[in-house]
Amino acid sequence: MAEKRDYYEVLGVDKTADEKEIKKAYRKLARKYHPDVVEEDKKEEATEKFKEISEAYAVLSDEEKRQRYDQFGHAGMEGFSNEDIFRNVNFEDIFQGFGGGGIEDIFDLFGFGSGRTRSRGGPRRGSDIYTEVQITLEEAANGADKEITIRHDVFCPVCNGSKAEPGSDVETCPVCGGTGQRKQIRQSLFGQVMNVVQCGECNGTGKIIKESCHNCRGRGTVKESKTLNIKIPAGVESGNRLRVSGEGNVGDVGGGTGDIYVEVHIKRHDYFERDGANLYYEKQISFVQASLGDTVDIPTINGEVELKIPAGTQSGTTFRLRDQGMPYMRRAGKGNLYVNVTVVVPQKLSKEQKKLLIQFGEISGDEIKVYKKGIFDKVKDAINNP
Ligand SMILES: [Zn+2]
Ligand SMILES: [Zn+2]
Repeated sequence: MAEKRDYYEVLGVDKTADEKEIKKAYRKLARKYHPDVVEEDKKEEATEKFKEISEAYAVLSDEEKRQRYDQFGHAGMEGFSNEDIFRNVNFEDIFQGFGGGGIEDIFDLFGFGSGRTRSRGGPRRGSDIYTEVQITLEEAANGADKEITIRHDVFCPVCNGSKAEPGSDVETCPVCGGTGQRKQIRQSLFGQVMNVVQCGECNGTGKIIKESCHNCRGRGTVKESKTLNIKIPAGVESGNRLRVSGEGNVGDVGGGTGDIYVEVHIKRHDYFERDGANLYYEKQISFVQASLGDTVDIPTINGEVELKIPAGTQSGTTFRLRDQGMPYMRRAGKGNLYVNVTVVVPQKLSKEQKKLLIQFGEISGDEIKVYKKGIFDKVKDAINNP
């Protein structure tokens, strides 16, 4: 197969294109390569093109996937199946007013079911579970093991998911003859498609249950709590989702189990701000330290380090501490810690301090008008001799 083209190039948009532009570009291309409008001999080519633009759109229209693609290119998408890539993409929206087709055709094209909008034949897969975990910035920096407790559907221990009372009569479905499926021919964008749909009589089980299981009332599943250990990777960012496969809800017997998606939330840190892998810290120093220079302790995410403040440092100066930031999640190395220095002017001075500062001012050639007894005279002076 030819090498994959850049998704932005495929849609003909800039890397900076916003959501609207991407949608517009895709809609335009989708109309052009819509197999209903191309001539018969070009159908095959158009279908390939349609696949390409749809995949590009699926990735670039999803903020998380787009970020990943921007950072790692096609390599970043390797862990994703087609199903992952197209999950949550709203194609109905795109194809509105577009003569037939839509999400079902896209899914036919890539050869998988959407699992949401259509009922294919065969046993149903269990649903995914979405949950959250709170961690500290330190845990995000070093990685952590976290326990989460979820409630998921497991097979009923009495009927083992069969939904029938043990020992009761179960008949073969007379409509589908026990296959649980019916065949249906449907007209799609890409010609005739034979669909296998679920038998409505037996809901795809192929069996007619005479007596429902008393324990699960015929659902086949019961709720159960489970505590899972989640490995939080170092460098994780707020909003990242971790997938724990196969720990979601069970579906029908033989239909497969859903996954758990754990969204990571990082608590606000007392003194670090984070931007990607970089950390920011505000350090206050006195004007004496700023003038004479000093060595100060700076907290990092893993203990303190010393920072040399050179003599004559101005307020607002930023110092970079290399590799003292957060680790990158998918490659070696760390970001930096930026220390922004603020010079603090004292608000209360003792007599002694005042005296020394006046002396200092005099040596420096500053005429300081000290507000004490002769305050009005001094103010007058100031007005007369600006
Ligand atoms: Zn049961
Ligand atoms: Zn049936």
